[in-house]
Amino acid sequence: MFKAGEIIVNKAYRYRLYPTTEQKIMFAKTFGCVRFIYNKMLSDRLDYYKETGKKLHNTPAQYKEEFPWLKEVDSLALANAQMNLNKAYNNFWNDSKHFGKPRFKSKKNRRASYSTNNQKGSVRIGGHKVKLPKVGWVKLCQHRPLPENSIIKTVTISKTPSGKYYISMLVEYENQILPVIPKTFLGLDFAMHSLYVASDEDEAKYPDFLRKAEKRLAKAQRKLSQKQKESHNREKQRLRVAILHEKVANQRRDFLHKKARYLADRYDVIGIEDISVKAMAKRKKGGKFSFGKSVADNGWNMFTNMLEYKLAWQGKKLIKIDKWYPSSQLCHVCGYQNHETKDLSVREWDCPKCGSHHNRDKNAAINIREEARRISA
Ligand SMILES: [Zn+2]
Repeated sequence: MFKAGEIIVNKAYRYRLYPTTEQKIMFAKTFGCVRFIYNKMLSDRLDYYKETGKKLHNTPAQYKEEFPWLKEVDSLALANAQMNLNKAYNNFWNDSKHFGKPRFKSKKNRRASYSTNNQKGSVRIGGHKVKLPKVGWVKLCQHRPLPENSIIKTVTISKTPSGKYYISMLVEYENQILPVIPKTFLGLDFAMHSLYVASDEDEAKYPDFLRKAEKRLAKAQRKLSQKQKESHNREKQRLRVAILHEKVANQRRDFLHKKARYLADRYDVIGIEDISVKAMAKRKKGGKFSFGKSVADNGWNMFTNMLEYKLAWQGKKLIKIDKWYPSSQLCHVCGYQNHETKDLSVREWDCPKCGSHHNRDKNAAINIREEARRISA
C-alpha cells in the first residue's frame, strides 16, 4: 500500500491573468470561435443524423474555408472544443437513455473559457508572464511557483462573470514519495451542519463570515430573480451576484485548503465515510438544513479530494470506508451493534451493553478511524 518510488504527479495551478486590451479582444475572439465551432459542428451532426441516421465525423479544419476568421485564433482551442463535443456526442450516441442530447453553448453563459495545449514550449512562463499561442505574453500573478522540472500539459483560460481572467495550468512532474509507516490515524464523519466531526480533533465548522456571505449571496440572487429582464438594474444586480459568488467560492476554497493541510500534516492515515448515498439520506431525514445544501456536498467532495492529494504527496493515505459500514451504530467502547437507533434525528445514544454515552457523529468518527487502522494494517 505504501510503495516507495517515483510517481508522476498531475496537478493544477490557477493564477489570475492581467491581459492588455488587445489581449482581451483576442480572448473574446477565441471564446467566441470555440463556442461557434462547437455549436456549428453539433448542429451539423444532428442534421446529418436526422437525414441519414448515421454519425458525422466532422473536424474544425473543414470549416476554416467557409469561416476564415476561425484561422485567427489558436487552432488547438478549436481542437479541444471538438474533443469536448466528441465526448458529449459519443456519450449520447452510445447511451442516449442516460446522456441527453448535447446542448448548444449559449452566448448568455457568462463564464467563457477555452483550453489549449503546450507543444514544445508554445505555452511557457517567464518573468511574471505566460506565453500563449496567438495571444503572446500575458501578465500573470504567480502567487506560488510551479514545481521544479514540471511540464505544462494543458491550460484553460477563463473569464469570470465579473470580468476577471484566470489561467488554470495542468502540470506534470515526477515526485519521489517516501513511504510512511502509519503511526497516527484519524477518522472523519461527514456532519450535517459543519464540514466534519473528527475522532481526535474539534468539529470543523464553517466560519461565520462564510455563512454570512452565503446568506448575502442567497439574498442577492433572490433580488436578481425579481428584476425585470434585460433591464439596466438587472445587469447591475447580475454583476453584484457574480462578484459575491466568486468571493464566497474563493473563501470556501481557502477554508477547505487550510483544514486539509492541517490534517494531512498531522496524520498518516485518514479514514472517511464514502459519503454520496449516505449524505443524501441524512439530508432527507434530517429535515431542516438552512446553510446551503449544495454547499455542504460540494464542500465535502472538494475537501476530501484535497485531503487525498495532500496526503498522497507525503506518502500518506486517505481510506474510504464502505458506506454500508455501520459506523454510527457500533459502540466504539465495547463493539456492541445497536439496532434500535436507526432514526437519523437521534444525535445521542447510550450503549445498552456497557452503558457508554455516545454522540452519534463522534462515535462514528472513532469507528471510522478504527476501521481505517484495520484496513491499512
Ligand atoms: Zn458499549
